[in-house]
Amino acid sequence: MQQNIPLKDYVTMKIGGPARYMATANTREELLSLVQQAGETPVLVLGQGSNIIVGDSGFAGLVILNRILGFEIYDQDPGATKIKVGSGEAWDSVVQRSTENGLSGIECLSAIPGCTGAAPVQNIGAYGQEIADTLIEVEALDLKTKQFVTLSNNDCNFTYRKSIFNSGPEKGRYIVTSISLQLQKTILQPPFYSSLQTYLDKNQITDYSPYNLRAAVTAVRATRLPDPTIIPNTGSFFKNPIIENWQAENLRNEYPDVKIFPMGDNLAKISAGWLVENADIKGLEIDGFKVYENNALVITNLGSGTYAGLIKIRDHIISEVRDKFRIVLEQEPEEVGL
Ligand SMILES: Cc1cc2nc3c(=O)[nH]c(=O)nc-3n(C[C@H](O)[C@H](O)[C@H](O)COP(=O)(O)OP(=O)(O)OC[C@H]3O[C@@H](n4cnc5c(N)ncnc54)[C@H](O)[C@@H]3O)c2cc1C
Repeated sequence: MQQNIPLKDYVTMKIGGPARYMATANTREELLSLVQQAGETPVLVLGQGSNIIVGDSGFAGLVILNRILGFEIYDQDPGATKIKVGSGEAWDSVVQRSTENGLSGIECLSAIPGCTGAAPVQNIGAYGQEIADTLIEVEALDLKTKQFVTLSNNDCNFTYRKSIFNSGPEKGRYIVTSISLQLQKTILQPPFYSSLQTYLDKNQITDYSPYNLRAAVTAVRATRLPDPTIIPNTGSFFKNPIIENWQAENLRNEYPDVKIFPMGDNLAKISAGWLVENADIKGLEIDGFKVYENNALVITNLGSGTYAGLIKIRDHIISEVRDKFRIVLEQEPEEVGL
């Protein structure tokens, strides 16, 4: 077990103080053993650190780097195929292998950084798909009982960017060790999300095979999202706000081009990207952080940024959006060590 390791080297925003202890788990057994050794010491599991912000004080406990691998096709029938994936597998390679096998269900989740175990944590989503749509169950280590458990899709309580793993009373209780997905040998049909549809139309792509859609999604994302291995960032910094239909209608009356996605139950999701892009903060730069030119929803670290600077630019954006649209944005990445 290593001690006092700078966490900024393990997260894509490249800020944050040290982990008191750090160790890697390559198997379920190693994970259990580390958790047992930790005793009452707090434990934080990290995948690729692409959805977490670490404060200056770091983490006063044991950080476990999850590297549990495995990819297995365990059930195939003509319509559906089930796969089981180790939680330390790079998520995008899971999408790649699935689409190469002609499997549909996660192709629009291409090019999302991170490990597979974090995918159910915030119920990753993009271009109309969410991991919750295909997830059968997860296996996890319960930190309370130190036992491995199986949680069904229902048990995970998935909603938009939320699950029992990141919200509610069980937050932080489970370390996901594998996930099982049910994928289909089908082909999605248009219309797709507007930016994806535009790309498909422009490139005259009419074969919507999982493989082709993956390539299209990857190409579209490359124009909108900076590669975190080159420019430090955590992707979208804010969630799409969910408001009541009457509020959405008022907003549309004032701003006819606002992007609204109906959600049922009298609720609507507003594009956080649209709100930020229309809040007059283009090119904003504060204390070593900058709003990304191609996508105002992304905050990038210019290199010298600290936690205090990040909070300053975040709060500035939140107050600009609130003053103009009367909507309060909520931060997407988790935070530790404040
Ligand atoms: C450029 C860019 C684009 C992105 N695009 C998208 C997108 O389109 N859609 C989207 O939803 N997200 C997106 N993200 C966010 C991020 O990629 C995902 O949330 C991803 O799933 C995080 O994986 P990770 O391994 O890096 O998690 P980490 O950042 O390491 O961890 C995130 C949280 O999950 C917990 N966690 C990690 N692994 C486990 C585990 N095995 N068991 C239990 N808890 C765990 C951590 O403790 C932490 O609280 C993007 C990020 C970047 C940088």
